[in-house]
Amino acid sequence: MELKLDISLIKDWKGYKGRPFLISGPCSAETEEQVIETARQLVQVKKVSIFRAGIWKPRTRPDSFEGVGIDGLKWLRNVKQETGLLVCTEVANQKHVYEALKYGIDMLWIGARTSVNPFTVQEISDALNGVDVMVMVKNPVNPDIELWIGAIERIARAGITRLGAIHRGFSTFEKTTYRNQPNWQLPIELRRRIPDLPIICDPSHIAGSREFLHEISQKAMDLNFDGLMLESHIDPDNALSDAAQQITPDELKELLSRLILRNPVASDPKLLDVLGELRQQIDIFDEHLLDLLEKRMKIAETIGQYKKENNITILQAHRWDEIVKRVMNKGQAKGLSAEMIDSVFKAIHQESINHQMRIMNNGIQTRQADKQAI
Ligand code: PEP
Ligand code: MN
Repeated sequence: MELKLDISLIKDWKGYKGRPFLISGPCSAETEEQVIETARQLVQVKKVSIFRAGIWKPRTRPDSFEGVGIDGLKWLRNVKQETGLLVCTEVANQKHVYEALKYGIDMLWIGARTSVNPFTVQEISDALNGVDVMVMVKNPVNPDIELWIGAIERIARAGITRLGAIHRGFSTFEKTTYRNQPNWQLPIELRRRIPDLPIICDPSHIAGSREFLHEISQKAMDLNFDGLMLESHIDPDNALSDAAQQITPDELKELLSRLILRNPVASDPKLLDVLGELRQQIDIFDEHLLDLLEKRMKIAETIGQYKKENNITILQAHRWDEIVKRVMNKGQAKGLSAEMIDSVFKAIHQESINHQMRIMNNGIQTRQADKQAI
């Protein structure tokens, strides 16, 4: 169901220079020199609308650099005066909001460790009541779309209309290539639920490493995100936080120059745009299907191992009957044809048998299509 919030379109926001709406700057403000010099170089990139720098840093371990505090707000104010860039920082409680507003910060963002907590988000919303400032809500660390939407709703209720979301990926226990899993289907669902809400991608925190920044930025553009937040530092390797994922302003310029923004040439560019976006979504869902199949086969192999160790036969006819009945009911309720469910699940079942047989026969692949396995 679509949610109606009073949101002003991103093209009407102060500082908007076209797609991608670009927010850049260091992970953390470290020194006055580092902040102003990064800003000076980012102005040369030409496409940056908003300068970011974390002043209060939520860190996993207590001995890490936790930000410079209020001094940094003065540096941000100087950046605005000298370069004309609008400025933004992260707020995690009411006091942060009051301090940031006092120093004329143009945009506030709510971090992933804050948007998980409705008490804190409500407290921030109360502090923002009636204030005219841009606010971005990062996704919560866990992939919970309702929690993300709830945080956005709470901020909207304070009367904030220049309101947007930042997709920064989701944490997972599994070891993965990226620092945070993108789970692209979540921002896609967010767009479906609140169509006018600007969505910015934060490839820096998804990637965790600079080598992946371009591919993630490109994907976000292909999915029609409105903008990007990319961390940039004059000396990334010596940054006090998130060193591995930051790039210099020159590298940012180079990354942007390699971004392909679909520019439809046909007579109905809008239609082409929509089609391109939908195809990207299909590709993502196909990737998910493959991931799920891989996980299912791994479980079948574990079961094979278990059966082997305990001398249990592979034949489990009643179990297969149960599965067929269940998927048939559920699948048909979802509007899928009985024919498709039958053929897809038979193929999956056959593949499971093959994986189990391989385990049970010490790595020798056997074809036993007539046997029943899970
Ligand atoms: C940040 O933007 O530097 C930050 C701490 O982000 P997140 O809340 O996404 O971890
Ligand atoms: Mn960071």
